[in-house]
Amino acid sequence: MVFQCQRESFLKEFTTTIESVKKADDGSVEVTFKDTVFFPEGGGQPFDEGIFIKSSDKSEYQVKNVIRRGPIAVHILADENNPLSNLKENDEVLQKINWNRRFDHMQQHSGQHLITALFEREFNNPTKAWWLGSESCYIEVTTEVKQSELQHIEKLCNECISQALPVEVQIYEKPEDAGDEVTRASRGLPLDLSGPIRVIKIEGVDANMCCGTHVKDLAQLQVVKLMGTEKTKGKIMVHFLVGNRVIKKLEETYQREQELTLLLNGGPETHKDLIKKLQSTVKSSQKTIQKLTKELATNLATKLNEDPNPPQYFFHHRNDGSDMEFATIFFKAVKPKIFYFMTIADGIDSKNGSAILHGDPTDIDAVKDEIAKILDGKGNGKNGKYQAKVTKLNKIKDCENFVKKYFENK
Ligand SMILES: [Zn+2]
Repeated sequence: MVFQCQRESFLKEFTTTIESVKKADDGSVEVTFKDTVFFPEGGGQPFDEGIFIKSSDKSEYQVKNVIRRGPIAVHILADENNPLSNLKENDEVLQKINWNRRFDHMQQHSGQHLITALFEREFNNPTKAWWLGSESCYIEVTTEVKQSELQHIEKLCNECISQALPVEVQIYEKPEDAGDEVTRASRGLPLDLSGPIRVIKIEGVDANMCCGTHVKDLAQLQVVKLMGTEKTKGKIMVHFLVGNRVIKKLEETYQREQELTLLLNGGPETHKDLIKKLQSTVKSSQKTIQKLTKELATNLATKLNEDPNPPQYFFHHRNDGSDMEFATIFFKAVKPKIFYFMTIADGIDSKNGSAILHGDPTDIDAVKDEIAKILDGKGNGKNGKYQAKVTKLNKIKDCENFVKKYFENK
């Protein structure tokens, strides 16, 4: 069967009658119609979304998916408005598709026909598969594509668009009527094929079997932009955008450019240099911080090492953006065998961070759980070393008091 949507791809609304309503095994409600303006998934083109309205009581039903089973388009409904009890065979309905979604699919899909045909004609590089995603599309080609080839195809596509070449749909009753050139098409025929063959012709460029919906002429594609190639898992993909997606992409890119201009305080032509400059500043600042951290940690340890009467316990807390490297350097350099309680905040004045205990294993075991509890964290360790990720560094003073009391009572 050729659906109404395939005979007239610009039809947005259509009146028809229900043929069947039933509950599927997965609990969803499936409806079939005498004919439909909803395109079921096929030929790489995603299904249409939309609604239909029952003529007699104006009740409205959301179509959330359309699939093809042989020659039948099955409409899957959102489970609202109680479709099972409200709908029955022969009910008249008005179908309305989400036109923005459909037209976008028509642009990307028809664009794909054009791009595929030109890659094959110009570079003998056939398309093995294609993908129409919600954001981007690609064709999977057979051999690698050079940058110059990409530019050549894009230029040709846009020339064809400016000539507004007609896109025609021809229906043949039997596959053999369509002619060799068409039935040889690499995609071949679906296994559950039934009924006539539908051939899409772009004047002077392409003739291909396809069940999808297409524009009337190439002018309706507006523009084609090839977005580059990608090689993954043995696939060679050429990414592309057509029509409104090009405009949307340009809008997003321009918006981002404006925001960058404000952030970087310089026009688009200076963005690259300004970012390189920023990156090198950050790199040298990081080096300086590393050097200072090392000096600070070493000095702190040296002071303790040189103390003739080291204290029983030692507290040190950092909330200045130092990282764990500070603790590593300090504990490597420090010598007195006393109790150490150190905290390092994840960022400036952050309540999240790490608590580190070093000392006699008996002392550590006696205080670690209470410290983890006060600072609201979890940790582990052994042999006189303990470390915990904590979330309440504002409670450090309580921990210090607890440790002091522990040593007083010892
Ligand atoms: Zn098609």
